[in-house]
Amino acid sequence: MVASSLVLATRNPHKLREFARLLDPAGIAVQPLPADVSLPPEDGSTFADNALLKARAAAVATAAPAIADDSGIEARALGGAPGVRSARYAGAAATDAQNLDKLLREAPAGSALRYVCALAYVDPAVPIERVFSGHCEGTLASRPRGAGGFGYDPAFVPDEGADGQTMAELDDAEKDAISHRGRAARALIAWLAG
Ligand code: IMP
Repeated sequence: MVASSLVLATRNPHKLREFARLLDPAGIAVQPLPADVSLPPEDGSTFADNALLKARAAAVATAAPAIADDSGIEARALGGAPGVRSARYAGAAATDAQNLDKLLREAPAGSALRYVCALAYVDPAVPIERVFSGHCEGTLASRPRGAGGFGYDPAFVPDEGADGQTMAELDDAEKDAISHRGRAARALIAWLAG
């Protein structure tokens, strides 16, 4: 199945940049969500449910194939929280910095973390829906380090990274090679190519 252009159902500019560079090597252009399309509330109980809600809304509104990622971080010391509530961990309108502060206060340094990404693909013309997933294991840094990435990256030390660097200290290519979003995007590319 060939898809040369996909609408990305997000208002997060970081996700748009990451998906553009992840899908570009496969010849897939990522189109931003048109300004007049509204996304549904993320009230699903799983990452996959929320990703599908967003991808369906974008596909129906644009009548084009769409993708959406729902992602977040799970802290083992917190029983998997914040999970699907990662973007709203410190409150409904919380900033990335407030969410990060709360995680650093509530989970011990060195404890296990996991990034999770569910990536939904919806093509209304076929019609078809698929969800791909990716994970990245790591631990919590004792304090935020690095200026790259977004969200919880300054406190996330990936197990596969070098020298205990946080995700925010890696360059784009290093993050993409090991990230939850990179893995889910490569699974989508392989399926589309198959
Ligand atoms: P949502 O998928 O729009 O619900 O938001 C996911 C939230 O999880 C983001 O706001 C970030 O706080 C966090 N998150 C997801 N992926 C990453 C990542 O690659 N780095 C850092 N934080 C992330």
